Amino acid sequence: MSGGGPPSGGGAPSGGGPSGTGPAVRRVSTAVYRFPAPEPEADGTLRWDATTAVTVRIEAGGEVGLGWTYSTGATAAVVRDHLAGAIEDRDAFDIAGGWSAMHRACRNLGTRGLVMQALSAVDIAWWDLKARLLRVPLGALLGRCRRTVPIYGSGGFTTLSDAQLAEQVEWWQSVGCTAMKIKIAESWGSRVDRDVTRAHQLRQAAGPGTQLMVDANGGYHVGQARRVGAALDELGVTWFEEPVSSDDTAGLANLRGILRCDIAAGEYAADLYEIRALLPVVDCLQLDVTRCGGYTGWLRGAALAAAQNLDVSGHCAPALHAPVAAAVPNLRHIEWFVDHVRLEPLLVDGVPDAADGALHPDLDARGHGMTISRQAERWCVG
Ligand SMILES: [Mg+2]
Repeated sequence: MSGGGPPSGGGAPSGGGPSGTGPAVRRVSTAVYRFPAPEPEADGTLRWDATTAVTVRIEAGGEVGLGWTYSTGATAAVVRDHLAGAIEDRDAFDIAGGWSAMHRACRNLGTRGLVMQALSAVDIAWWDLKARLLRVPLGALLGRCRRTVPIYGSGGFTTLSDAQLAEQVEWWQSVGCTAMKIKIAESWGSRVDRDVTRAHQLRQAAGPGTQLMVDANGGYHVGQARRVGAALDELGVTWFEEPVSSDDTAGLANLRGILRCDIAAGEYAADLYEIRALLPVVDCLQLDVTRCGGYTGWLRGAALAAAQNLDVSGHCAPALHAPVAAAVPNLRHIEWFVDHVRLEPLLVDGVPDAADGALHPDLDARGHGMTISRQAERWCVG
């Protein structure tokens, strides 16, 4: 690109087309990174020993945009085989048009789940690319109604010892978190007594001023969730996430009508139809930028939630959520999730700092300000 400030008037970056258009998207590439967990981890309904990040790089006009999703290696094949061809040679400023082209190209594959994770990574890379082409921070392009983004501490796996949980709480306190979340519904809701005991341990470790949050990952049935929820209400828990499966909207509605704590869900929502189905049965909508269609899908989902007078909360991937979470008025917070907080600085340079209970994005960075780190090669598997 030629030097100078942001293009003004009819100025377009080098390689651009007629006035108002951008350079053409030239190359879409992927990589897969596998980060082992320090020890096997589990929530109520799943166990894992590693986290896989699938990155996407998009090139246009001499700039490179970077996005990623937390998924599986097959996501990279979806990008290469089905999405890249839909956007190569398109105007790099036309993200909305490219998003629709990718969505249409995957009609016969199904457009949710893994396909939407792939599309999300491309969309994130594309917004980063566009901001870099315009030589502005991504926050300036998405909008910025706050300079810092509130976070809550998240982890508290069912596999942790009491001492490990206490250590996590101390860590969250060290960055100023005043809300903290642990996993419950251990072994598909078969250890309810321990679930409630651990919630009490969280209260004891975190102190009386901390907002307590729990996530059952859909591990209870409605009756169990009602009984556990009554104990959580007594303890002052403010957030009960996926008490039952997110697919059980009738169950969520039932619990929302009975319990005092907020009911939250939405981490698997892939599109506006799935978001619309959840809005009447949650108190706060969770949205995951790596699963719901990238920044494009997240902004649309947040607008839909606003029409229902609901806040949104970013699910996992804190560094990726920071710019878009700063752009919506109806944000409650984003999730400072232990696995992702651990691996993000290994994957990329430029992760926003956490302090005073918030992420502090670099307001002068180009794009989202993150680039693949040199050490990431160590975890690259494809
Ligand atoms: Mg969850």
